[in-house]
Amino acid sequence: MLYDPERRWAPRAICRVEDWRLFFAEGGMPHSTPAAATQALWDQAKEICASCPALMECERDTLGEEYGVWGGRDQHQRALARKALPRKAARWPEEKREAWGKELHRLRQAGVTWPYIRRQTGFPQPVAEKLIKAYEEALASRQRPVAEVVDLPLPAEPAGPYKAPFPPRAGQRHGWVRNGRGMADAYYRGQTPDGRWLFMTHFSGRGNVHKWIRAEDVLLYHPQPVVILTYGGRPDAKPRAREPAA
Ligand code: SF4
Repeated sequence: MLYDPERRWAPRAICRVEDWRLFFAEGGMPHSTPAAATQALWDQAKEICASCPALMECERDTLGEEYGVWGGRDQHQRALARKALPRKAARWPEEKREAWGKELHRLRQAGVTWPYIRRQTGFPQPVAEKLIKAYEEALASRQRPVAEVVDLPLPAEPAGPYKAPFPPRAGQRHGWVRNGRGMADAYYRGQTPDGRWLFMTHFSGRGNVHKWIRAEDVLLYHPQPVVILTYGGRPDAKPRAREPAA
């Protein structure tokens, strides 16, 4: 597990029954050196942490905490660890970088803010963005089209200058499509080889609707494997999507 956002280890924390003033002794700003009295209280708190059964999980999940003693580290030590994180993350093995990139990508897709991500994971925004980008690039490099033929007549260009704006938040499915004068949350099914048209499924009052939509009228917000649609030689046959090999 990369981290536990719900901190399910908290019931095992022994600091729950200790004097909280040891853990949150007044210590100034996270980057400043604390007074000797504060440091002495923190050292006592760290001794308690050393015998805590949740130490490893607590240390893993509290890097982003600004104040006090968590996971055997005081705020000053955590601030230094956060500072060192970009250099450390650059040396991680590829799988670990990708796993973190995937997790951070998922959080952003769910609408989680950068400050909250930083508090939960310790990653400042620029580092998190780099990991997400590396994950998206790795994903894109694994996606290859497997077929080349599309010969169904495509719909005429839609008329009218009206363009509804895409919603600012992700929906439940793969992306938004402009649907007449409105917007629908739709599944991506595939596309033409030139990428100008996407085949999408959305729901209407009369059930599922499958449609070719111009690429500019689609906003995909989850990276999708590129699927080129083929028609088995019959121009009126139903499109058949083939997933690319992993
Ligand atoms: S490691 Fe320290 S701060 Fe973390 S739960 Fe245990 S006692 Fe509390």
